[in-house]
Amino acid sequence: MKPPIYLDYHATTPADPRVVEAMLPFFSEQFGNAASRAHAFGWRAAEAVDAARAQVAALVGARLPEEIVFTSGATESNNLALKGAALANRDRGDHIITVATEHRAVLDACKRLEQDGFRVTLLLVDKHGVVSSDTVRAAITDRTFLVSVMAANNEVGTLAPLMEIGRVTRERGVLLHTDAAQAAGKVPLDVEALGVDLLSLTAHKLCGPKGVGALYVRRGVKLLPQMDGGGHESGLRSGTLNVPGIVGFGRACEICRQEMAAETERVGQLRDRLHAKITESLENVFLNGHPTERLAGNLNLSFAGATAEAVMATMKDVAVSSASACTTAAVEPSHVLRAMGVKRSLAHCSIRFGLGRFTTEEEVDYAARRVVETVREVRAMPPMEQLALVAARDRC
Ligand SMILES: *Cc1c(COP(=O)(O)O)cnc(C)c1O
Repeated sequence: MKPPIYLDYHATTPADPRVVEAMLPFFSEQFGNAASRAHAFGWRAAEAVDAARAQVAALVGARLPEEIVFTSGATESNNLALKGAALANRDRGDHIITVATEHRAVLDACKRLEQDGFRVTLLLVDKHGVVSSDTVRAAITDRTFLVSVMAANNEVGTLAPLMEIGRVTRERGVLLHTDAAQAAGKVPLDVEALGVDLLSLTAHKLCGPKGVGALYVRRGVKLLPQMDGGGHESGLRSGTLNVPGIVGFGRACEICRQEMAAETERVGQLRDRLHAKITESLENVFLNGHPTERLAGNLNLSFAGATAEAVMATMKDVAVSSASACTTAAVEPSHVLRAMGVKRSLAHCSIRFGLGRFTTEEEVDYAARRVVETVREVRAMPPMEQLALVAARDRC
């Protein structure tokens, strides 16, 4: 073990060596364009893409591989799902329902649609970050055509009750989109059982490469493409396919499908160990997120009296994250924690630990020790000193 220790698996994950191995031939020997129909180079690339499409489909329970549309990642998938569905379903309505704790890629796409004349309802969550199916039901009107609820939150790991929400949207004949960037590969997902019509994925959150993702589009769901061109991906997403990336994404999904149960068990135990070791030694530490219905690798803690920025500036050998967004004027606390009712002062003191496939017990023990030391040190500083520390690091 050699520091820095990586505990930021919600931001991105290292590619699994098995994924890298699967990708390598497609950069050089097998460099063909999957859209080249006239020769063996193209055929081989297309075959590899087809195999990956089946692997991705299997991870989320898609019945048909053609329901998987490859994109550049979950940001693009969310944009295609929301804007694509909005513009193709104008005859069905103009009202979208989503949740206050969604990722920016969903919230900002909705903001854009609002500027274009759509109406958006942002649902509230409870103190654990859960949106209930009753809240969804109550918000649906006869103008609603789409509900978008993330499967797992990227800050606090809270899992949505998608099964119940899917029952409501099916009952009301409304499309259901879910941003599953964090949930995929970590918890079982089955679009058929859940009644999900659109589902966003990204490879780099599940030990695959960056810059590749997918949107599951249930057969029969109409979307207006956001990228026009050669008509790739059934016309939904033009552009030459990132064959190595797609191959790696497929392999990453296959590994997740095979190892998810064991990995969840192992990572969950490490996460609980980290939590226990920290709270054994420190007072006034509060857990954010659902105590049980959350991702196994997620631990989001508020350390009263120690601002996250100061802790991170001091603890350079452990890579963690705070959800505070640096704007030009001030550090804004996380919109997710605020929506959950976490006080502004505590939200500023929240750190997200993300554990994953390659996290070891030794790393967890090291990180726990460093967190305890650092929080004690920062808590002993006067507030002005904490601020100066952050300014010195010049993150904003
Ligand atoms: C990371 C993430 C995204 C963005 O995915 P990219 O592939 O990086 O564009 C969207 N939604 C959630 C919940 C995420 O965690």
